[in-house]
Amino acid sequence: MGRDDLRSEIPNLVSRLIQIPSVNPPGFTINVAGFIRDWLNEHGFTSEFREYAKDKPNVIARVGRNKPVLILNGHMDVVPPGDDSKWTYSPFSGRIVEDRVYGRGATDMKGGLAVIMTVFAELAPLIEKQGSGTLIFSATADEETGGHPGVEALVRDNVLTGDAAIIAEPSGSSRYYIGEKGLCQVKLVTRGRSAHGSLPVLGENAIMKLIRAISKAEELISEFNSGIKIPSELVNAIKNSAEVYLEAAKASGLNLTLSDFERVVGTVSFNPGVINGGSKINMVPDYAELELDMRIPPGVSPNQVINHLRSGLSSIADIEILDTSEPNYTSPGETIARLVHEGIEKVLGAPPKPVIVTGATDGRYLRARGVPTVVYGPGELALAHAYNEYVTVDDLLKTHDVMTYAVKRFFGV
Ligand SMILES: [Zn+2]
Repeated sequence: MGRDDLRSEIPNLVSRLIQIPSVNPPGFTINVAGFIRDWLNEHGFTSEFREYAKDKPNVIARVGRNKPVLILNGHMDVVPPGDDSKWTYSPFSGRIVEDRVYGRGATDMKGGLAVIMTVFAELAPLIEKQGSGTLIFSATADEETGGHPGVEALVRDNVLTGDAAIIAEPSGSSRYYIGEKGLCQVKLVTRGRSAHGSLPVLGENAIMKLIRAISKAEELISEFNSGIKIPSELVNAIKNSAEVYLEAAKASGLNLTLSDFERVVGTVSFNPGVINGGSKINMVPDYAELELDMRIPPGVSPNQVINHLRSGLSSIADIEILDTSEPNYTSPGETIARLVHEGIEKVLGAPPKPVIVTGATDGRYLRARGVPTVVYGPGELALAHAYNEYVTVDDLLKTHDVMTYAVKRFFGV
């Protein structure tokens, strides 16, 4: 097939990928990986399977030689479809209706996979012939449950390492993600002394202590937030992110403002998620605990937040660490970020918007390894994991064209 044919085939390719379920859990990618390997083969490329968990192979194809090395990445697993009856078209139908391809994974992210497969097939021969560097295609496993036998393992084994990466998760055609917040999940534990509920004066109530600890923790975090310095090169991205979340909130009828979202993206968020304590109504409880979820912006480390909480709460509550991850970002000045930015401007004539997201992608493993990574692909965040998920043909073609621009410039072909 010629290059124009491949581009116009993208919607059909998305549809075919949707028709091969790869629901996570359990997250078996074996069938969709087989399809991708065969597709690459038909287009003249060999690829290899790298399997770190049974029936969850990753597919890697590589062309060219030497530096620079550019990685194209997408995950193959999708979240469960939920209640089938809530779908207008069956979740694995891949139905194309007018300008939309419907199905589980259309946006997150079989649309993006089809785009990077196509860009790879179109540009690999050129890059190989000119000897202008190395292009790696990677379709990976288990992103929806942490990416451990996927991108994390491939980065650790030096399979995915290079000078830049594009992950085709859904950003929409005029936005691109340059960073994401980190995670800081802790447990606050208070202890008291039990007594009969009719004589609380004899005991020490752990639930009342926990309530005080939660208020105090909230104060401590807001005090911490007032001293946060966001790296100046990210100020614009935080404003753009606030706009994205505001748009989504308005669509669901919530009355929030831009500054509400600027605050939540640019500071440590505070969400008491689970509370436990006490055993009987007529007992003074001697134990209570809270699971607290905080998301932290670039420029802050989970340890700073934990230390601040510990020093302020030492007399009331103990703090146990549940899970942490560092926030991460790629400077907007990095080559790959500049090229995607420029592509949106020149190819689409749209104002490009760098964004920081509040959730995590596989990009964190690449950035932790020092690989500048941009997330750019078709679809909208609001449609990921939703019923009647779809991707528009327009978005598929636009992101394809911008990505083509960025990859060509990256290699000078
Ligand atoms: Zn995704």
